Amino acid sequence: MVFIGDIIAKEEEYLAGKGTVVDEEGNIIASVIGKVKKDPQKKEISVLGKLVLPQVGDSVIGLVTDVKEKVVLVDIQEVKGQDDKKRTLPKTSGVIFIANLSQSYLENPRQAVKIGDLIKAQIIDEDPGAYLLTMKDGALGVLLGLCSKCREKLLEKGKDVKLKDCSVMICSKCKGIETRKLAKDYIYKGEHK
Ligand SMILES: [Zn+2]
Repeated sequence: MVFIGDIIAKEEEYLAGKGTVVDEEGNIIASVIGKVKKDPQKKEISVLGKLVLPQVGDSVIGLVTDVKEKVVLVDIQEVKGQDDKKRTLPKTSGVIFIANLSQSYLENPRQAVKIGDLIKAQIIDEDPGAYLLTMKDGALGVLLGLCSKCREKLLEKGKDVKLKDCSVMICSKCKGIETRKLAKDYIYKGEHK
């Protein structure tokens, strides 16, 4: 498998076929993600790009790896398109800005998510290093939240009074209270009242 920008051959070795470009130094470079195909008779090298890349609007399952003052960092595990088919991931970094965590005004991202949470989000933009994500929509948010003290699962206790689309969560073990912005299909929803 080669990625966009990978040098796959020299111009003196092969002719540049489909899915390739030639740079100023005579390197043949992949212009799509896919498999390299060499045609020994034509002396041609090409890249068969069958893979569909993530796009704006696709849904993402990811693990929260860091929560900073204004942003949440996500390790993207899986991307599905609006056709429900899996996408190939050239990069796995996701970023959610605090304003895209919830429809309520948050003072701190930790009111909606914490490190180690499994989340469902949506791609709203892309830059060379990461996908920009949102979990503002009602269906999006935390799929599985773990207690920040004892790492046990959090159960939904009820809706938060101030943060309207967030929930008050109780730890199934230490009974600690935290808040989360839950996805519609939160894994332990409804177990605790
Ligand atoms: Zn706990």
